[in-house]
Amino acid sequence: MQKDAQVTVVGKVFRPNRLKVLALNRVLGEYFRLVKWYLGFNSKSKSFLHENGYEGAKRLFNLNTALIQTARDKAVEILKSFEENRNENSILRLKRISIRFDKRCYGFSKTTNVLTPYWLTLSLNRRERISLPIIFGEKQKQRIEEAFRGEWKFTTVEMVKRNGEWYAHFVLSKTIELPDEAETIIAIDRGEHTLATAVAILKSNPEKPMKGQFWRGGEIKRIRGLYSHIRRKLQEKYRVGKIKELKGRERRKVKQQLHMIANKIIAYAKQFPKPLIVMENLNGIRRKFKKSKNLNRRFHSLPFRKLQAIVEYKALLNGIEVKYLTKKYVKNTSKTCHRCGHVAQVKGREFRCPRCGLTYNRDLNACINIAHALTRGMGWRSREPREPAYVSGGVKLQANAGSSRL
Ligand SMILES: [Zn+2]
Repeated sequence: MQKDAQVTVVGKVFRPNRLKVLALNRVLGEYFRLVKWYLGFNSKSKSFLHENGYEGAKRLFNLNTALIQTARDKAVEILKSFEENRNENSILRLKRISIRFDKRCYGFSKTTNVLTPYWLTLSLNRRERISLPIIFGEKQKQRIEEAFRGEWKFTTVEMVKRNGEWYAHFVLSKTIELPDEAETIIAIDRGEHTLATAVAILKSNPEKPMKGQFWRGGEIKRIRGLYSHIRRKLQEKYRVGKIKELKGRERRKVKQQLHMIANKIIAYAKQFPKPLIVMENLNGIRRKFKKSKNLNRRFHSLPFRKLQAIVEYKALLNGIEVKYLTKKYVKNTSKTCHRCGHVAQVKGREFRCPRCGLTYNRDLNACINIAHALTRGMGWRSREPREPAYVSGGVKLQANAGSSRL
């Protein structure tokens, strides 16, 4: 099976001259108005917007025709995501936007320029074209070089203005080969006491889960605690700007931690043959988390969603498929015994099954249930969950031993 992977490589526009900055700012303003104008149609259909808006847009906005089309696509994306995330009294407010250049209106090449070899040329409108020097950090440079070697395809470039500086976000893509049939299922779950738990089930031995792994997310907790403390202090002094700045820093630090954990999860998965990762689909149950009485669970739910996205992306780059299971299939994962299927009340850190006597780490048990929800569908488990063995008169009877019942 093949799947397309995308990565974004961010470069900075290096000391652009005043005229180029003015041109970019002008285009940003024009593009922003155009996206708003398209949003005014209140339509999520690209063809409707094209038929009813394109000619008008060309007349009213001084932009390259390719930019007019990407602005239309953006309007559709913005409207879609707004409708997915809206609640009763949310209003669509467009605050910022980046300009999307596609292949028709940008060129990117390596030159012998001493300042930087990377130059980005943008067609802004019918007359204007500007060339911008771009610099990259070490990691980003490696990716860009891979793209120049043909390992990645250049798709679009988003021009982003942040704190008065301009950045170019290069979106690269490539096709990745995934194994047709997995031989290991890796379930990743958020736990009651951990940020993430992982466990592997092998096709060759589906009855016996492999040794699991836990990530407590302690450092994330520490970062968040620290920043919320600082924020409270600043709030007393009404330092709004400073608070915003700190939020950005906190987010970056948390993200860094999540990337580290995601790398470890991928490393865990890669020790097994042909792994496939399965996680619970958490879309649309965010509000439920907010009401959750369990502080830990509430605390971890948001970073876990971010972690899922990072894991998904890193998995794909490593040729590992990711599947999400909806609530329907992962009901009661924490209360169900993974060995016999009995549903019990759980307290504390251990799951104790009153029926079959299993004592197991609670988070790991839940995680195994998620893996089983998938392996069952794949026909890996040869038999139904084991029934408990009854002891009578010294003879052990299997309750579901079929017709040979004594
Ligand atoms: Zn049991």
